[in-house]
Amino acid sequence: MRVAFLGMGIMGRSMATNLVKAGHEVAIWNRSGGKDVEGARSAGSPADAAQGAEVVWMCLSDTKAVESVLFGPGGVEPVLAAGMIIADSSTISPSSTLLFAERVKARGADYVDAPMTGSKIAAEAGSLIFMVGGDEAVLARLQPLFQAMGKQVFHMGETSKGQATKLVMNLQIALIFEGFAEALTLAAKLGVDVEKLVPLIQASMVRSGVVDYKAPFILKRDFSPNFPLRLMLKDIRLALDAAKESRVRLPGLEAVEEVYDVAAEEGQQDLDYAATLTLLEKWAGVEVKGASK
Ligand code: NAP
Repeated sequence: MRVAFLGMGIMGRSMATNLVKAGHEVAIWNRSGGKDVEGARSAGSPADAAQGAEVVWMCLSDTKAVESVLFGPGGVEPVLAAGMIIADSSTISPSSTLLFAERVKARGADYVDAPMTGSKIAAEAGSLIFMVGGDEAVLARLQPLFQAMGKQVFHMGETSKGQATKLVMNLQIALIFEGFAEALTLAAKLGVDVEKLVPLIQASMVRSGVVDYKAPFILKRDFSPNFPLRLMLKDIRLALDAAKESRVRLPGLEAVEEVYDVAAEEGQQDLDYAATLTLLEKWAGVEVKGASK
């Protein structure tokens, strides 16, 4: 298929690379330069990339970025055409998604929100899991692209339900990781060997995929970004906004937001969200250490 891929960040670049590898004709665009993908055409603007494409796939930081790439200067809107599909794998506001989809559909194109779970490693391996909002028939046309980038697609309902689902998924990741990080901090303070604690966690009902993914990085004290703290903080805020709009109280997530706020203020926003552990350590006057450290 002819695909325009907009946003060559941690996730987007690997996703576009996998589309090229699967034989699709890909044009890429990124706001800042120097992010080429072998085998893809580098376009000068979102509109340039999208011209003549069957599908425009976005993977951008936040709601504002998606709005500007679609409707801002050099944006996709003027080249939208009947039959074209806009697919958005960014994690953004569900209510803004509905507005964006309305504007896109007014020009005869289709809109699918397709946020994903799985981090940098899954993007590289082509094993992302997508949660999608949109028409079944449109999703069916995207199957070859989902297959090239991911291993599973969950159709969650109509437009915006993919984004709504993504927020409740990340709500859980943030709370599960916070539980793990607080447990590690208290364990270290009480003199429990964390190298022994992690296998116990994973052998018990406390086990989780979050611990599987994050424990090896933490034990090596590697806080380089797989999922940057600034993006998790954005998602926590999106979930709290959605909760406010729908009159739901989330006291646990509100408390976790404060931890992320302070960590970001202390300059950790571009590290992985696992770096929130170091704030807990600082407050406790202790450091969680693995034998490999
Ligand atoms: P990233 O590395 O920070 O990349 C963000 C991309 O958005 C870059 O291409 C950036 O361009 C672009 N961008 C930011 N503001 C822009 C604007 N105003 N106009 C145009 N382009 C703009 O982020 P990522 O990790 O790839 O994540 C992308 C999206 O996927 C986010 O919504 C994130 O929440 C979601 N997500 C991430 C992960 C993960 O593990 N990383 C997992 C699931 C979902 P520049 O290069 O010019 O800054």
